[in-house]
Amino acid sequence: MAELSQLDPPREAPDVRRNLIDGCGRRIDSLRISVTDACDLRCVYCRPGMETGDVVSERALSDEQRLQFVRFLHDRHGLAQVRITGGEPLLYEPVVSLVEKLRANVPDVTLAMTTSGRRLTDLGVALRRAGLDRLNVSLDSLNPDRYHRITGGRLDDVLAGLDSASDAGFAPAKVNTVVMRGVNDDEVVDIVEWALPRGHVIRFLEAMPIGPAAGTNGKAFVPSSEVRERIGRQFELVPLREDPGSTAKDFEASNGSVSGVVGFISPVSESFCGDCRRIRLTADGRLYPCLLDDRSVDMRSSWSTGSFHADRAAASLKQAVIDKQPRGRAQGTPMVTLGG
Ligand code: SAM
Repeated sequence: MAELSQLDPPREAPDVRRNLIDGCGRRIDSLRISVTDACDLRCVYCRPGMETGDVVSERALSDEQRLQFVRFLHDRHGLAQVRITGGEPLLYEPVVSLVEKLRANVPDVTLAMTTSGRRLTDLGVALRRAGLDRLNVSLDSLNPDRYHRITGGRLDDVLAGLDSASDAGFAPAKVNTVVMRGVNDDEVVDIVEWALPRGHVIRFLEAMPIGPAAGTNGKAFVPSSEVRERIGRQFELVPLREDPGSTAKDFEASNGSVSGVVGFISPVSESFCGDCRRIRLTADGRLYPCLLDDRSVDMRSSWSTGSFHADRAAASLKQAVIDKQPRGRAQGTPMVTLGG
């Protein structure tokens, strides 16, 4: 593998930056990078029945290539956030060094990660030291048996991971819960009661019709309005001002003894496509302009001669941004590949 310095494109001065604007006038400044397809969970709403889907190894981008693409986007167009995801990003062996390199190369960008949280006991301190700013942790039930039925994993591992993250100096993680009828929809109030005293922002997600889970998720679909109503019976919910590009509708929730932020991510019933600022890079270098659309471009052509070609990257990026539809509809690629 060539050294990064040999592959580096010359950096562009920030004053030549132009915002990356898609065909619908949306500014794109948030990149999600899936670093691996591998995942040690089998969440029913994500990859039911999938035995493999693990690792794209020979086609996978190297971290040097990921860094080059991030720097290219950052230097040309400005970037507000890079989120590392997967698969399970903590199964990606060089994840700490990737965070370190991103921190060094784009120091002004917020670095976030979405994870199942189970390996934070081992990696929390190193990730914090490497410069990761924020964590989102997925947690679909507080009942150990149920958690196991939904994900195949052990609840205690996630809870220990959350404790380790806070010991490592992270702010309380945002917690993501995918709500499914007859699976965990009866638990939403309990989850809020658990999350708020611990300082977690809790986000309830609608199950999206993606990949092999599309059928199951359609049948078990619970609209956010219903979850909000359930929680609203126990908590006063006051809407908070929306941050630009935020996918969640956040509320200040209080019940007299505890208060905190509860959010609802409703891509199916209350589409937020008009505010979308994201693009997604898969582990093998495909750039998806929209989570709910099959269209993608292959960024690997940017390295077809071995070194990075900014002009090719620009052409592929332009295509991806042109392809970004006003509204997402359906997705055949599994979420474990797309990264969420
Ligand atoms: N392995 C990591 C994790 O567990 O968070 C990161 C990848 S996972 C694909 C990213 C997020 O997508 C998780 O919060 C997960 O709950 C969510 N997710 C997966 N499939 C989904 C679906 N069909 N609808 C809504 N959210 C989904």
